[in-house]
Amino acid sequence: MFQFMTSTRIIFGEGALHDSLSLLNQFGYSALLVTGQDQQRSQQLEQYFKQQNMRYQRLVIKGEPLIAMIEESAAMGRTFCPDMVIGIGGGSVLDAAKSLAALIPNQGSVYDYVDVVGRNVPLQVKSLPFIAIPTTAGTGAEVSKSAVLQSAQEQVKVNLSNAELFPDLAIIDPTLTYGMDAVLSGYCAMDAFTHLMESYVCSEPNPLTDMICEEGLKRIAMSILPACRDDHYPSRSNIAFAAMLGGMARSNAKLGAAHGLASALSGRLNIPHGLITAQLSPYVMTENISVAIELGRSDVLARYQKLAVILTMNKDANIDDSVRWVENILIKLQLPSLSVYGLCNTMFEEVAEDALRTSAIKGNPLPLNQQRLITILQQVCGLNCHYQVL
Ligand SMILES: [Zn+2]
Repeated sequence: MFQFMTSTRIIFGEGALHDSLSLLNQFGYSALLVTGQDQQRSQQLEQYFKQQNMRYQRLVIKGEPLIAMIEESAAMGRTFCPDMVIGIGGGSVLDAAKSLAALIPNQGSVYDYVDVVGRNVPLQVKSLPFIAIPTTAGTGAEVSKSAVLQSAQEQVKVNLSNAELFPDLAIIDPTLTYGMDAVLSGYCAMDAFTHLMESYVCSEPNPLTDMICEEGLKRIAMSILPACRDDHYPSRSNIAFAAMLGGMARSNAKLGAAHGLASALSGRLNIPHGLITAQLSPYVMTENISVAIELGRSDVLARYQKLAVILTMNKDANIDDSVRWVENILIKLQLPSLSVYGLCNTMFEEVAEDALRTSAIKGNPLPLNQQRLITILQQVCGLNCHYQVL
């Protein structure tokens, strides 16, 4: 038995934003518009609101959404009382907008509804209609049921997650990702890759997420390099599509150790999420493959084997070719190493302990103990490692 949930309506393609503006009217006549700092991205929407005499308020999100800031914005939102919340921007903007759509109609504080530092109780009242318009291709937040918020006090990332949080409308126009620089495009695309890869090999996949992951990984393999280098529509469109599939996969299957370690690290260090998961991936894959060999788990090995075939587009690929493919892409995308951000100065025992408590790591295909996670961190650090490298 399995179940599958996603956004209620998805509109995908070139010109999707322009062509779906009139759909906004079905949600009402006033909107809280959540954006990043680049005002140009939301211009089309603002013009439409003015033309339609719709009431709107613009909220700009700078950096990661902090709990305190969401708390304050929700109070402001309750006074404004919008009919809908629209988020247009990258993952952080969509996460902030999604949280506000949930919190504005609900009483109480953010801490009532988040995990890790909060009470994690279900929402009492249905979320406001939420429209997600991504301008990056990575997190898949436009089709996911969770939002990541940062607690500055506890220096930890927390999740607000609920089936109520799936967007009512996701408008995905790959041309909105045009102009993004190569390294940022690389982080985002590799985050989409990690969602698809971890969901594909996870402990609880289902036949629908398997199909979704295979298609998404195929598109990533075909288009990641050209999409990150320039604004070539078929490539950008493939990555935007793969990012959407990654969001669907992670909402309906599980993730794994790369995301578990990433949550433990992201509260401690200021590193883009996609960069952490990308740089951890080859080491997590290697560790999982070697544990699967030790335990004789041919089912897990078969998945990594298939992954190698999809990524290399070679039916005779070896299981380790999946890891080589990721290493090679990381070099070609010229993504910085995690040691630049101070990874090697963190306390690996504590990071591994915190990672073991995350929900992501519970989806890892095989249980990895604390020592194995420490080994992964040592390997990522390489020569800069202050712990004894093997
Ligand atoms: Zn991710």
